[in-house]
Amino acid sequence: MFKKILIANRGDIAVRILRACKEMGIKTVAVHSLVDESLMHVKLADESVCIGPNNARDSYLNVSAIISAAELTGADAIHPGVGFLSENGKFAEVVALHGMTFIGPKPEHIAIMGNKITAKKTMEELGIPVVDGSNGDVKSIDEATNFANEAGYPVLFKAVSGGGGKGMKIANSPNEVENAFKMARSEAEANFGNCSVYLERYLVNPRHIEIQIIADFYGNVIHLGERDCSIQRNHQKLMEESPSIALPREKRDEIAEKVSIAIKKLGYVGVGTLEFLYEKGEFFFMEMNTRLQVEHCVSEEITGIDIVKEQIKIAAGEKLSIKQSDIHFCGHAIEFRINAEHSETFMPSPGKIVELYFPGGNGVRIDSHVYRNYEVPQYYDSLIAKIIIHAPNREECLAKAQCAFDELIVDGVFTTADLHRKLIKNQDIISGNFDIHWLENNLRRL
Ligand code: ADP
Repeated sequence: MFKKILIANRGDIAVRILRACKEMGIKTVAVHSLVDESLMHVKLADESVCIGPNNARDSYLNVSAIISAAELTGADAIHPGVGFLSENGKFAEVVALHGMTFIGPKPEHIAIMGNKITAKKTMEELGIPVVDGSNGDVKSIDEATNFANEAGYPVLFKAVSGGGGKGMKIANSPNEVENAFKMARSEAEANFGNCSVYLERYLVNPRHIEIQIIADFYGNVIHLGERDCSIQRNHQKLMEESPSIALPREKRDEIAEKVSIAIKKLGYVGVGTLEFLYEKGEFFFMEMNTRLQVEHCVSEEITGIDIVKEQIKIAAGEKLSIKQSDIHFCGHAIEFRINAEHSETFMPSPGKIVELYFPGGNGVRIDSHVYRNYEVPQYYDSLIAKIIIHAPNREECLAKAQCAFDELIVDGVFTTADLHRKLIKNQDIISGNFDIHWLENNLRRL
C-alpha cells in the first residue's frame, strides 16, 4: 500500500480523499494556490506545499509544480481528484515517468474517453448503445446539414474535447445550422483549445442516467448501479439521486451488466462512470468519465462501499475485495449541490461566509471544506458543500431533506440552497416527473 499520497486538488473533494487516506493510515500531502492557504484539507494534511498563484493554470494545472511537490515530500502516489488534471492522460504519464502512481486509469483509456468521438466508437464496438451521431467531427456547414437532414431535427453540436456542458449548441431547423455550428466551434476553441465539433441527434425528453463502475488489474469489474442526474442547469448537474425513479430494476440490471462486460473487455482499471441519456426505455451512451465524480457519494450511501478507498487500493495493485453478488442496494440517496452562486441567476457569489450551520442527524452526510469566516475565492468552481441524504425510500429521503434544509444556514454568500428548498417541495420533483430540461423550463415558475 502507498505510504504517502499527494492530493492534487482542492475543495470538498480534497477533504474527501484526505479522509480516505487517513482512515487507511496513509500520509497526505496537500498542494494549494496562494489564496487557498487556509483550505480545510491543507490544515488537516500531514504536509502542504504552495504550488503557485491563484489562477488554476499556474497552480492546480501546473504539472511541473505538482510533480516537484510530490518529489520534495516523497509521495509515492498522486490522487488527481475531479476536474483539473484528473482526465489528463499526459499528466498520468508524467507521474509514472517520475516513478509515482497516478491514482486513476491507464493513460490510453483516459485518451480514448477524452475524445468523445473515439469514446463513442469504442463503446459501440463493445456492445453499448450510443446516440446517433456524425461518425467523426463535422468540418463544414454542408456536412452538418446533410447529417441533420438525414437524422432529423433538432440536432446538437458538441465539442469533441468537451466537458462541463461547454461547446454545445442546438439547431432546430436547417436555417439554424450555420449559426449553431459557428458558435459551437468558437466556444470549443475558447474552452478546450480544440475547435472540433461533432453532431448528435438531440433527444427531446431524456433523463441523464449514469452507471458507476469499479475495475481492478485482474479483470474483476463491479457496478454500483445508476445515478439519475437529470436535474441540471446549463448541462451542469445540481441534484443527483440513486436509484432512479424512472428506471425499472430489470432495465438497470440489463444496462449495468452490458457496461460491466464492456469495461472488462476494454481492460479498464480504476473507477469510472458511463453517462447515458435514457428515453422511452432506451439507453444512449454519451461519454465516460475516467475519474471519481462529484456525485459518487450517492452510490456510496446506497451500497455502503467507500469508492475512494477502493480506488486507492486498486491503484496500489490490490484485488477488488467485493463481488457483484456482495452488493445490495439499500434505500434511496439524494445529493444536493450547494454552490456559492445566486439561486436565480446562477451568477457566482464569492465572498466571506459569515455564518454557517450544517444540518445533521441520521442519514445526513455533509461533504464540504468550508467553515465560518471562510472566504470563497472567485477563481475556482463554486461548489462549497454537498448535502447527501440517505433514507429507506425516496419519500422519506425528501422528508429528511426538508428537515436538513430547514436547519442549514449559510450567510454571506448566495447559494443554491434556496433553489433546493423549492425543488424538494415541488410536485414534479416529488412524483419524479422530470427530464434533463425540466429545471430550465420550470425555473421561473418555482
Ligand atoms: P459534458 O462532458 O460537457 O458534460 P455531456 O456529453 O456529458 O457533456 O453532456 C452534458 C449534458 O448535455 C447531458 O447531461 C445532457 O443534459 C445534455 N446532452 C448531451 N447530449 C445530448 C443529446 N444528444 N440530446 C439531448 N441532450 C444532450
